[in-house]
Order: sequence, then structure tokens, then C-alpha cells
Amino acid sequence: MSADLAPFAIADLLREDLRGRTPYGAPQLDVPVALNTNESSYEVPTPVVEAIVAALGSELAGLNRYPDREFRALRAALGAYLERQSGVRLAPEQLWAGNGSNEVLQHIVQTFGGPGRTALGFTPAYSMHPIITETLGTTWMDGQRDTGTFQVSAASAAAQAAAADPHIVFLCSPNNPTGTALDFEVIEAVLDAAPRAIVVVDEAYAEFARPGTRSALELLDHHPRLVVTRTMSKAFAFAGGRLGYLAATPEIIDALRLVRLPYHLSTPTQTIARIALDHDADLLASVEAIKTQRDRIVTEVAALGLTPVPSDANFVLFGGLADSARTFAALLEKGVLVRDVGISHHLRVTAGTPAETSAFLEALAELLPEHALAPDDKES
Ligand SMILES: *Cc1c(COP(=O)(O)O)cnc(C)c1O
Repeated sequence: MSADLAPFAIADLLREDLRGRTPYGAPQLDVPVALNTNESSYEVPTPVVEAIVAALGSELAGLNRYPDREFRALRAALGAYLERQSGVRLAPEQLWAGNGSNEVLQHIVQTFGGPGRTALGFTPAYSMHPIITETLGTTWMDGQRDTGTFQVSAASAAAQAAAADPHIVFLCSPNNPTGTALDFEVIEAVLDAAPRAIVVVDEAYAEFARPGTRSALELLDHHPRLVVTRTMSKAFAFAGGRLGYLAATPEIIDALRLVRLPYHLSTPTQTIARIALDHDADLLASVEAIKTQRDRIVTEVAALGLTPVPSDANFVLFGGLADSARTFAALLEKGVLVRDVGISHHLRVTAGTPAETSAFLEALAELLPEHALAPDDKES
């Protein structure tokens, strides 16, 4: 094929609403201390690896067949896990899964959004919520959190939801990148104020929440438009396994079947995730250690004179920096990769092993006070 037979450049053929966009891109750099994507720093424990290898071994010859389209064994394992973790009992018909929770979020927007429809979120929140929304031709409406605290009150969320009257609302609890969980009051106020909306509570970090934090799974019985999403990428230390899931009414789950690609969960994916869920105690054993490092980051970053946001997740957002981009680069120079989430004067850091956390704290301390916001500028 010769070039002159192509009258259009590919850029001209691109969907108008995708032109000028850049792909999602947290850097994947080979650095000594990678604390930028909220992965677990702990490897999959050997007994779990062995159990997975054994289970896969007996299934590989059967890969000539398509996988179970309804992933029934995996659903049973997800339901059993959620009951152990949260005390909420869910039937297999209330559970859905995908290749990461990003895929189940995409299924929700494909099913309930689309051209002419809107989705509301309260920023700063998870950057993939607007990306998934807009790449599916749905209009994103940017709701706001209270400045300073990064919280959103029930009254403010309800007023914004009522004004927008969206088809989908994204809530994130604990919220990425700010770290804090939402009160039930906020979730219920949004359900009331947005009467035609599917309300998604993204609980990717639920297992890290501080004691007393309740899961929105408890609300499912009373709210037929509520969807709670979870993932094995964070607390389960299973980001490479690519398994996210959600809980909702059977009617919502049934509707998601209209948009999923047939056999979207491969046989190995279903098996790997199922065995991992059966070994939840082993995989979640590092959660307490990670929470200890998270709380240590909050305490020590505050002692350095910076302003951490309290966290229910496996990361901490902290402010008080003169120039986040400059501090990000200086930390990277010292081998520590954190995340610049685009909030001025702030950076986000994942809680790693004790040694990784120490490396981060030491590198940060070496940059202060030079990298700190001058006292006079703190109000800005
Ligand atoms: C990391 C994260 C996810 C997880 O995405 P996966 O596709 O399951 O890896 C979902 N939501 C939020 C808020 C996250 O931070």
C-alpha cells in the first residue's frame, strides 16, 4: 500500500471528541522505590503461588473451550469473600466481574451512559472516572469537593447532584487521591437528590479503611440504583491478575450483560482470581503492615512541617510543597517515584514496606525546608 493512496491522515479519521487527548499514563519506571500507583509492595505469598500453579496445570489442556461466560465459580468465591470481609451476604446474581475494576466501571457507563447522557463526579477523585465516561461519549460533569479539607458534605453533594440530575454519579470511598472515606449520609443524600442516577461507590481501597468505616455494600438492600465496585489490585496485592468486581441488584447485573464482550474473563483469569480469593487471609496479611506505614507517613510528614490528609487507603496525599513538579523530580532523582496528581502544592505517595517508606521519608526530609511552601504562601 503506497502512502499516496491514503487521502486522510489517521489524525483526521479520529473521532472528533478523542482528538487532542493523551492516554492515561502513570509512569512505569524502573526505580528502586516505586510508590506511585498504589500497588502492594508485597509479592504473592508462595503457598498462594503454588495453589494457583496447581489449579492452572489441570485446566490448561481445556483451553480449547471458551471459559464459563457467567464465571459462576468465581462469583461464588467473590460472594464468600465479601461476606467474610464485610459481613454482607450477596447472591451470585448480585455480583459481576471484569478485567480490573476499570472494566466493570466501563460496563456501567456503556450500559447507563452514552451520547446525550451525563455522569457526575466530585473532583479531585479517581482520574479514570472522567476518562471512561468521556471516551464512551458520555458528558462528564465536574462536581466539587470543599476546598481545603477535600471532603464533600451531604448537603453540598446533594445540591450538586440535584442541579446536575445526571444518569450516573461516581463516588469514591476511600477517595483516590485524597484518601478519606465517605459517610453513608453522603451516599444516601446523593441517591435521593439524583432520582434517575445509577450511583457508583468505588471502594477500591475498602480493606484499608480505618476501624469504624462501613462499606456501602450494607446499603445495597435498600437502594436498587446503588453499585459498589471493588478490586483485587490494591489490598489483595493482585494488580497483575486484573480482576475487579461489583455488587448491585440482579436487574443491574443482568443489564451489564448487554455490553460485555462474550467470554470477557479468560479461564486463567477466573481460576487465578478464584484461588486468590480462597487464600484471602494469606493475601491480606500485609494490609495491617501497610496501614501502619500509612499512619507513619501521616505522622512523619506532619512532623516535617507539611500537611498530610488523613487516609483510609494505602496512600497519603500531602500538601505544603512550594512546587509539586519540582519535588516530584527531586524525589525521583533520589530513586523514589511518587505521584503528581495535579493538585497544586501536593503529591501522593503509596505506603510501601517499612524500608521503602523510610527511603521516601528520608529523601523528603533532605529536600526540606527548601521545597516547602513559604509560611506566607500557605493560605494560597
Ligand atoms: C486503583 C483503583 C482502581 C483499580 O483499578 P483496577 O482496574 O481494578 O486495577 C479503581 N478505582 C480506584 C479509585 C483506584 O484507585
